[in-house]
Amino acid sequence: MRKCDNKVLLINPEDSRNKLNFEGIIVNEPLDLEVIYTVLKDNNIKVYFYDFLISQKQTLYEVIKKLNPNYIIANANVNQIPFVFEYFETAKKIDSNIKTILTGNYVEHNYKSIKSKYLDFISRSYDPKCILNIINNKKIKDINGLCYKEKGVWNYNNLTSYDINELPLVNRTHFYKNKDKYRYLELLGACQIRTSYSCPYNCNFCYRTSLNCGKYKAKDITKVVDEIESIKSDNIYIVDDDFLFNKKRLYTFVEEIKKRKIKKQYICYGRVDFIINNKDIIKQLKEIGFYYILVGLEAINDNFLNDYNKLIGEENNKECVRFLNEIGINCMGMFIIDLNFKRKDFFNLYKWIYNNDLKHVAVSIFTPMPGTELYNEYKSKLITNDLTKWDFLHLVAKPKFLGKRQFYFYYYILVIKLFRLAIKNKIYDFIDWKKLRKEFFKLVIKK
Ligand code: SF4
Repeated sequence: MRKCDNKVLLINPEDSRNKLNFEGIIVNEPLDLEVIYTVLKDNNIKVYFYDFLISQKQTLYEVIKKLNPNYIIANANVNQIPFVFEYFETAKKIDSNIKTILTGNYVEHNYKSIKSKYLDFISRSYDPKCILNIINNKKIKDINGLCYKEKGVWNYNNLTSYDINELPLVNRTHFYKNKDKYRYLELLGACQIRTSYSCPYNCNFCYRTSLNCGKYKAKDITKVVDEIESIKSDNIYIVDDDFLFNKKRLYTFVEEIKKRKIKKQYICYGRVDFIINNKDIIKQLKEIGFYYILVGLEAINDNFLNDYNKLIGEENNKECVRFLNEIGINCMGMFIIDLNFKRKDFFNLYKWIYNNDLKHVAVSIFTPMPGTELYNEYKSKLITNDLTKWDFLHLVAKPKFLGKRQFYFYYYILVIKLFRLAIKNKIYDFIDWKKLRKEFFKLVIKK
């Protein structure tokens, strides 16, 4: 017998079932689910978390059985969608009355391609009140951007942009309970905040710029600093696609942090052109505790950079790494392993990283994201339909000059060399390299 009170289970899905997924190295707090948690809790709804990224004592099946929730909500990236459908199937098989809701940035533009008989709603807006309105049985046709079924046929409401200034202060109960699990590399208890939504730039491979109906919205700095001040953690991970955008806003941020004597360490994303053209403000950010800046260097030659519409050149990338090294901010350089790579490109990339003394590196295989301009261009070259492969660690389209096995071979050699460089540089001491290497070789053999 079901109770009348609504009970909601929020699911943070697995990132990947491939062991090479930085498990235990970067573990992200499920901020967007916590935002939903906050709004539901404020409306006296009973809400529970099941977070696959941190170890669970019970299986999802056991939790659903015991809890018997009315709603299950998952927030997923593209590669997590197949996992979510499995969870929803489990739930529906336990009780077909459980309603399932899928949300997350991927669904904003790809909602029409998402199909599962176990799915009831797709919530496309970043506004958490949309989910509250479903649960509170508000008129379904009026819910911003909602996708819902009527007599087995999907209906799609129009979506309008959202102003993140309307978000309430995030309830961090879940984060504090698991603070020692969420980390960005060596920074433990990395507490996420979002100070803007969508991206003001327009790199043609990137999906993020199209979010929120393509409308970049930034939060008032006073609200941002209020939130930082209220967080009981020394490490703040600003997850904006690009925090280093508005110089005036950044000066106000620095002033406010200094005025309130807040002492924390920060991680944020920023672009090369902003960093090298605004060195004064970057130095001030260093003074108040900026520890990592995650920079999309993307490539080491101008042809690739021009192709991506990055508006920067190779020399700018070098200058950015040199400058951040000089002032003591850790530059996490993010690169794309392009489908046009030849053998020499893999080796040249390593050489560039070594010669420019770039200590922190992330290399992702070029993955045309559904919903981007580039996706249509690559549609005919796709070699898989398996969405779990859209994790930036797999080839999803055919490389131009190398066979699939060769491409993976050179990619793995590059990653192994980068591991060795990191060990030599004595960074990431907390990582179990032996375990990681073992998993890695297993993967090489499997390919
Ligand atoms: S790659 Fe970065 S700067 Fe470019 S559109 Fe995406 S988030 Fe913005």
